[in-house]
Amino acid sequence: MSDTALVNLFDMDRQGLADFLVSQGEKPFRAKQILKWLYQHNVRDINAMTDVSKATRSLLLERTTTVLPGVQEAQLSKDGTAKWLFELHDGNCIETVYIPEADRGTLCVSSQVGCALDCSFCSTGRQGFNRNLSASEIIGQVWLATNLLALEPATRDQRITNIVMMGMGEPLLNYRQLVPALDLMMDDLAYGLSKRRVTVSTSGVIPAMDKLTADVDISLAVSLHAPNDALRDELVPINRKYPIKELMDACWRYVEGEDAASQRKKHVLFEYVMLSGVNDQPEQAHELAELLRGFPAKVNLIPFNPFELSGYKRSSRNAVERFARILNDAGILTFKRTTRGDDIDAACGQLAGDIDDRSKRHVKFMEPRFGEQGR
Ligand code: SAH
Ligand code: SF4
Repeated sequence: MSDTALVNLFDMDRQGLADFLVSQGEKPFRAKQILKWLYQHNVRDINAMTDVSKATRSLLLERTTTVLPGVQEAQLSKDGTAKWLFELHDGNCIETVYIPEADRGTLCVSSQVGCALDCSFCSTGRQGFNRNLSASEIIGQVWLATNLLALEPATRDQRITNIVMMGMGEPLLNYRQLVPALDLMMDDLAYGLSKRRVTVSTSGVIPAMDKLTADVDISLAVSLHAPNDALRDELVPINRKYPIKELMDACWRYVEGEDAASQRKKHVLFEYVMLSGVNDQPEQAHELAELLRGFPAKVNLIPFNPFELSGYKRSSRNAVERFARILNDAGILTFKRTTRGDDIDAACGQLAGDIDDRSKRHVKFMEPRFGEQGR
């Protein structure tokens, strides 16, 4: 059997793995054992999976692989934020960011190499679309980050308690690969995170939002960035295809979806990047408050992270305060996100997977250790 025909164990969630094992004449319960080894014991050497029978192990060795991206570069920001540049098997690179806070540790995960949607303020969009990530490349970012954090004295006590699909790419345009990765983030035999702690951020791909609402129960963030179609058409071009009214209808379908197990009330987190003089004026705050009136919304005001030739400026502190006040006064729960990892370009929208400008990659704190394994 040639290498290309090998199945990557990291590409499959519990059901996928069980189906694969059955197709190989194996018992489906082996899926549970394998998941635990991969994600709870962080073991990807099939020979080390000692409670899996020898016969099954030889089959796995013959037909499967546990390849993950390699670590190209690792950086630690002054504020504890970590950013890794991972190299994929075809030489493409993606970025993953870890943001420690007092009560949580958030991992920001990429879903594509580049992005086709070309939002005017986003440097990932500027680089265009290259390809979708596989499920193993998505969940692999969590696996590698978990292991890299545990290895280093500086970050050893830091855990990943939350995952946000807010790295490079539009996750809902890579739906088929995204879903098994989300399943693994929430599976008790893998990372076991609750659905409150796993967030998919989308610029508003409505058919996929509906599918997600039906298929997986997770938290949803929507990149709104403008209170009306005229401005949103300009900032988030996919708005021309899926305008705000239809987007809000899809958000309603999401919050009204069943959550029988926990009876939790769902909400949508609306992201709004603050661009000076573009979308940060008081009348726009009022328009946004009107748009979200009666909807279970939280709003996150994000400082714009500038990049070369973007043509935008970050809103002043006063403008952000004023905007937040108007929304809060209208009864809309509004947060002002502080920028993290600025010194290593790890903030949102600065993830470009660009390894050309090495002058910026000044704080190296980990050596690549996983790159050569498991190939
Ligand atoms: N494609 C998805 C998820 C990745 S982008 C989406 O658009 O939602 C994650 C978040 O970063 C989005 O809210 C996006 O609008 C925001 N973002 C992009 N570029 C930014 C920049 N330069 N400054 C601040 N936030 C940015
Ligand atoms: Fe793509 Fe999101 Fe960037 Fe828009 S903001 S270009 S959807 S990654």
